[in-house]
Amino acid sequence: MSQRPYLVGLVGTGVGPSLTPALHMAEARCHGLDYLYRTVDLDELHIAPTQIGEILSWARALGYDALNITHPCKQLVLEHLDEIDPTAAQLGAVNTVVFGPDGRALGYNTDTTGFAHGFAEGLPDARMDSVVLVGAGGAGVAVADALLRLGCGHLTIIDLDVERAGHLARELAARHPLTRVEAAAFDKLPVLLPDSDGVVHATPTGMAAHPGMAFSADLLRPRMWVADIVYRPLNTALLRAARALGCRTLDGGHMAVYQATDAFALITGITPDAERMSRHFRSLVSDQPEQP
Ligand code: NAD
Repeated sequence: MSQRPYLVGLVGTGVGPSLTPALHMAEARCHGLDYLYRTVDLDELHIAPTQIGEILSWARALGYDALNITHPCKQLVLEHLDEIDPTAAQLGAVNTVVFGPDGRALGYNTDTTGFAHGFAEGLPDARMDSVVLVGAGGAGVAVADALLRLGCGHLTIIDLDVERAGHLARELAARHPLTRVEAAAFDKLPVLLPDSDGVVHATPTGMAAHPGMAFSADLLRPRMWVADIVYRPLNTALLRAARALGCRTLDGGHMAVYQATDAFALITGITPDAERMSRHFRSLVSDQPEQP
């Protein structure tokens, strides 16, 4: 074991069941690191999300090396950082804060880098000329940004909350003037989906608590790829339908694992074994392994 113990926290509401602490600590053990990763549940501790600045100050004073930040603090944390990585700054959301040796708080977003890494690994050479994103919430924003960095030529964003989809599309279009980014109403899916190269599903539908599918499987075509970011379960109804049709698929485990690998690398400076972390993650989710 190294002499230097790492101390890391996950700050947010409802973070108790998160698999991220177990993922980080198991990987750290494989590298001989003494690494303690704890959840800091704001609800349980009766701390208001708006106190995130104080949490950062205390964490730094108490010797934390880093914090992962999740709902509802990813935007609130921005004004309390000393430096923000350009990708996270563009996105306007930070999920990883690393305290430098000088105590400076540096912010990153490994949701978006994690989706991009997982996508590149799980769907190599996927056509990206025309992609539909369903769900423009916290995770959808990170996914949209990643899709544009991955070279998507035309991104259509759909959300039941039309305002939210429109806002995200306008923001992305302003930042990526060479790419076509637009929002569309949910009832346009029957026209848009069958003509697209692929779809990313980023709503909570399909989770154990929200079973079902956000849109009909009749809209899928065998030549499309289908990515779902829901990971509990990994094998969602959407992915089952897509595989039955012969579509290439990507489950939500890829994003979940790579947000952790990217954060681990930022915190320790060590490149983790992503395959080992993925195996561990999948054993924790204890779901069917991903089908080809
Ligand atoms: P959120 O509540 O911030 O946003 C969800 C969005 O989906 C909202 O804008 C809502 O209006 C929209 N929506 C809901 N039902 C819809 C439907 N049927 N059709 C169209 N739009 C619909 O949630 P979030 O934080 O963005 O998380 C979304 C999902 O992504 C959750 O299941 C979460 O577990 C998952 N997630 C996965 C990862 C990962 O690493 N794989 C990371 C973050 C979130």
